[in-house]
Amino acid sequence: MNLAFISHHECQNHQMGVHHPETPDRLHAINDRLIASGMEMLVTHYDAPIATFEQLTRVHDPDYVRMIEEAAPKADDEITWIDGDTAMCRGTLQAARRSAGAAILAVDLVMGDKHHAAFCCVRPPGHHAERARSMGFCFFNNVAVGAAHALAMHGLERVAIVDFDVHHGNGTEDIFKGNEQVLFCSSFQHPFYPGTGADCDAPNVVNIPLPERTAGKEFKAAVEDGWLPRIDAFAPQLIMISAGFDGHVEDDMAHFNLREPDYAWITRQLHDLAVKHARERIVSCLEGGYDLSALGRCVSTHVDELIGHA
Ligand SMILES: [Zn+2]
Repeated sequence: MNLAFISHHECQNHQMGVHHPETPDRLHAINDRLIASGMEMLVTHYDAPIATFEQLTRVHDPDYVRMIEEAAPKADDEITWIDGDTAMCRGTLQAARRSAGAAILAVDLVMGDKHHAAFCCVRPPGHHAERARSMGFCFFNNVAVGAAHALAMHGLERVAIVDFDVHHGNGTEDIFKGNEQVLFCSSFQHPFYPGTGADCDAPNVVNIPLPERTAGKEFKAAVEDGWLPRIDAFAPQLIMISAGFDGHVEDDMAHFNLREPDYAWITRQLHDLAVKHARERIVSCLEGGYDLSALGRCVSTHVDELIGHA
């Protein structure tokens, strides 16, 4: 079975200014690389649907969703700053709804056995968005919307969310901490933006703070020690990934020294666990990754491993 590749052209209509690193060019870079690497032949494309108010409010406060809807600018050249580094233009609301909707469709496709794995190639990203707060380029928490959909509509009891973005997934932690149906694993540079994650004592959260200049060897050791046994013991029925590639050595957004083989390795570990526990079901949602060349190469590698080689 090949991989479901979910995106939408409206995800490119979200712009936060010409110099903002979370740019529509990120999706172009990924698409170009998939074609160049031949991976394009191994995926089936789907258009991301729009996440409904009901689907969004499984993880977000209704007043927060209404605030985002009402803050959306009406004029073409207008930009509204929601926080210090997150802004809305006229196309943002629809892009954010599509990004969350991609996770919904991805879950439906893998739970319906149409594909064993799905990658949501969408923006804006989601993992910094808390229950009632936008943050760090994120409006709706896409991976959380997908996980909540899997629990509510597909009757699952155990979903693991693994976040290897270089930044802590504070939004996902905020939404699911203390929820025994979700195991949340996040690795991140620490101390660093957003400053959270080192002091969470919720039993369903496995945070791995790592120092700057962390490279593959240290990352693998921490994951083997901290994540893999916990995920194995949790026996998830679905594995979801917050796939951020801003820990790549060429990415200036942060200071990790990871490379493509390290992202291949973590994806393979998660694929193996999905084979063991989850009927190979994996849903991955794009988060960060701002060096365009490195992002394209990492996503191509990640998609290759999601497809699996068994
Ligand atoms: Zn990030």
